[in-house]
Amino acid sequence: MKLLEDKILTEGKALSTSTLKVDSFINHQVDPVLMNEIGRDFAEHFKDAGITKVLTIESSGIAPSVYTAMHLGVPMIILKKQTSKILNGNVAQTNITSFTKGTSYELTLSLDYLDEKDTVLIIDDFLANGEAATGAVRLAKTAGARIAGIGILIEKSFQKGRQKLIAQGYEVYSLARIARLDEGVIEFVRE
Ligand code: 5GP
Repeated sequence: MKLLEDKILTEGKALSTSTLKVDSFINHQVDPVLMNEIGRDFAEHFKDAGITKVLTIESSGIAPSVYTAMHLGVPMIILKKQTSKILNGNVAQTNITSFTKGTSYELTLSLDYLDEKDTVLIIDDFLANGEAATGAVRLAKTAGARIAGIGILIEKSFQKGRQKLIAQGYEVYSLARIARLDEGVIEFVRE
């Protein structure tokens, strides 16, 4: 998606060979016009997949997912990183290793909102080693839902997430695919 690639080139900061900072339009400050276009693109791509819910991970997946859900005309579900006292017993949980923090955390889904009648589109901001997306897949499967595909804003194609998800039989649709990062260097995959 040219709009996203241009934004990454103008505002993204490659901090190392593995990490890209996009705080000014995705992770801290959010560009709603860009998020709306991202939502439109995901919705268009998956329009015939029978999606009933968009599933995302808090917090950076929420903004693009809201717009995607709006364009598809379906609800969005947030997988929670914090366990709250008001989430009752009807939940599924799974453990994720965080790429950016190097720690692990529990991801929680209330089973009140997803069941075997649902077909989900999973959306996340980044795809690195595929830990977060695989965790979202596990939770959706626990609920009995079908997975239509995985929509990613920024895929770091030099890491193993895409292969991991494709090997499990899932479609990975990424709006920007990064081939190489280095301090001050951002190169996209060109097919
Ligand atoms: P994975 O689970 O695929 O290894 O990593 C994906 C998750 O880690 C995403 O949800 C995202 O929050 C975070 N992440 C991975 N790589 C980057 C990166 O280069 N920059 C930022 N800002 N977040 C990243």
